[in-house]
Amino acid sequence: MNVYDTSFMIRELSRLNYEETTILENSDLVIVNTCTIRDKAEQKAFSFLGRLSRMKKKKPELIIGVGGCVAQQEGKKVLKRAPLVDIVFGTHAVGRLSKLVQQFEFTRRPIVDVKMATEIIENQFEEENIPIEGFTEEAVTGFVTIMRGCDNYCTYCVVPYVRGRETSRRPENIVSEIKSLVKKGLREVTLLGQNVNSYGLKGGKCSFPELLQKINNIDGLQRIRFATSHPKDLSDELIFALRDLEKLCNHMHLPVQSGSNNILEKMNRKYSRELYLKKVDKLRTACPDIAITTDIITGFPGETESDFQQTLDLIKTVEFDSLFGFIYSDRPNAIATDFSDKISEKEKKNRLNQILDLQKKYSKKKNMAMIGKTELILVEGLSKMQKKGDMRNGSKDFQWSGRTSTNKIVNFVMEECSSCNNNIKGKMVEVIIEKAFSHSLWGKTKENENLYHCVKGEKDNAA
Ligand code: SF4
Repeated sequence: MNVYDTSFMIRELSRLNYEETTILENSDLVIVNTCTIRDKAEQKAFSFLGRLSRMKKKKPELIIGVGGCVAQQEGKKVLKRAPLVDIVFGTHAVGRLSKLVQQFEFTRRPIVDVKMATEIIENQFEEENIPIEGFTEEAVTGFVTIMRGCDNYCTYCVVPYVRGRETSRRPENIVSEIKSLVKKGLREVTLLGQNVNSYGLKGGKCSFPELLQKINNIDGLQRIRFATSHPKDLSDELIFALRDLEKLCNHMHLPVQSGSNNILEKMNRKYSRELYLKKVDKLRTACPDIAITTDIITGFPGETESDFQQTLDLIKTVEFDSLFGFIYSDRPNAIATDFSDKISEKEKKNRLNQILDLQKKYSKKKNMAMIGKTELILVEGLSKMQKKGDMRNGSKDFQWSGRTSTNKIVNFVMEECSSCNNNIKGKMVEVIIEKAFSHSLWGKTKENENLYHCVKGEKDNAA
């Protein structure tokens, strides 16, 4: 979601003729878009602000802005901890960024634009009518936020306090934003929300599966993904949409957080281990090859060894394609911060390592099972190694990177083509998987893949 908000800020700032730079020292304006989901992320943000403050001492005209959840949570206190910051803007104020920057350029006085979470109400999507024209990024894949905030109040989470109550964007605005991005080259969209499964349930908008149907009808768009789904709200309609909509990718990220009913209840997750497993079964019955991934928190207050063993057991039962593991940390306002029976840092890390080690086996197993299969890949660009100039086998072939419908990264080689210079970014290419690693796959294109990277007519003429 922060990546999306950042791209929104870039669009906002391009109205004032600001351009992105990759060289920090060249900047006239730096916006730090922060995250407060874990303590470590917040510490990193303040440490980076310290670096920017040292830069500003040498270059006083530099403007420093802080947005995102730390800004929302800390408000004016950001200026106490980092006095050289010029603009602090909350999660609701992204759409006003260009106005705030203009105001600061005019007054040179610090600005704090942070509403209390309780004030963030239905109209927070002021930004949604910003035209995309003028936005120069030409990405093959991109994010579009369909809703903000959350009403679930999981006891470890700050989102309802920093992002406000759940609100959904109007479907016509979402569709129109995606159509504009498709005109600029977007081929795969990831729809974002804290809990996309409850999209539209408040305020009479269409349901999430209905929204998916509308997006599935957009010409030129090849793939649709979404994140994140709350297991309690995963409906049969959504499972049928996964089965039936051809552009919807074969992947479900379904955060379980714990395999113990005792901990799930303390987390206020509102589902049981049994219900979660039932939904996984339904998903696999409807879509047998679907990739299922999850999030797990280790060391939630009061998590006993027996609770933890139940989480390990759930991982073994489901055999996830991959998982994100997190160490529990107290966050301001989150209810669990006041819970007793805190787990030591050492034990939290120990449990996280056990989870990651166990998952590695299943990720590798799932990837190994793909060897020899032909996968349709959306090419996102050159592989990281190609960009670094570090080529496997020392060959001159081009190395490309993309993802399967199940969200697995595939790097592959394609012979150099003098006709089209292998410009296959954004194309769908069939790749035979040859090798499997824990986090990626390696393959080669089929013999007839020239059809994909050359316009066929040009090839024929050349012949
Ligand atoms: S569903 Fe729970 S974890 Fe997810 S954003 Fe809402 S409160 Fe946080």
